[in-house]
Amino acid sequence: MKPQTSKSFSFAEVFCNIFGHQLKVSKNVTNHIHEYECAKCGIEMTDTANGFIARLTPKFKETNAYLASFHERRRQRRQQRTFVKAS
Ligand SMILES: [Zn+2]
Repeated sequence: MKPQTSKSFSFAEVFCNIFGHQLKVSKNVTNHIHEYECAKCGIEMTDTANGFIARLTPKFKETNAYLASFHERRRQRRQQRTFVKAS
């Protein structure tokens, strides 16, 4: 008699474990830090301050939200030259 696995089984996640996640940027936190979402399984990842990509935990979300507001304030103060001629 085999014990039944009660773990919820996601094919997409298994696929990603084998072939890797198909990450797309879901949010720009700063120029260097982005949040990503996997197009296949929906896992959320983020750049970390030391250059790694890690699972986007609530703790990271909190940190990113703080970084984003800090970054936004700096950006507004600096008066960016974002007007590019599109001719
Ligand atoms: Zn994935």
